[in-house]
Amino acid sequence: MASNPIKCPGCGQEVEFVYNPEGQDACPHCGSPPPAAAPSPKFNWLLFLGVLLAPAMFALGGAIGKIEGLAAGSPLVGGVIAGLLCGIYLAQRVGRTRASRLWLGFLFVSVFGCVSIILSFFGCLLGGFQMRMG
Ligand SMILES: [Zn+2]
Repeated sequence: MASNPIKCPGCGQEVEFVYNPEGQDACPHCGSPPPAAAPSPKFNWLLFLGVLLAPAMFALGGAIGKIEGLAAGSPLVGGVIAGLLCGIYLAQRVGRTRASRLWLGFLFVSVFGCVSIILSFFGCLLGGFQMRMG
């Protein structure tokens, strides 16, 4: 039995998490659940794809609705935000150590940022929006 105390996210004390009456791990002091790291949480692909595709949907909506600010801004602003969220989310799930999460995060953020921006431009094209270059 490995009994290594973990820092409780609820009260900040080094505690050993115990089973509460509901059969879940909980802090003996404040009842908080342990930090959500340990046994690999399920990867939510639906959420992931939803975030990744959201800027494209907004861009498409903006293009169809002739909302130029939305159609033009969504690929860049939305794409960067979606890339950050998806990249960090995936890195947290895939990376096993702090260092690997960090560099995987950088890698995934740049990859998904590009994917999301490209998808958003397709969303614009699909909605018939012409990007005015200059
Ligand atoms: Zn606690």
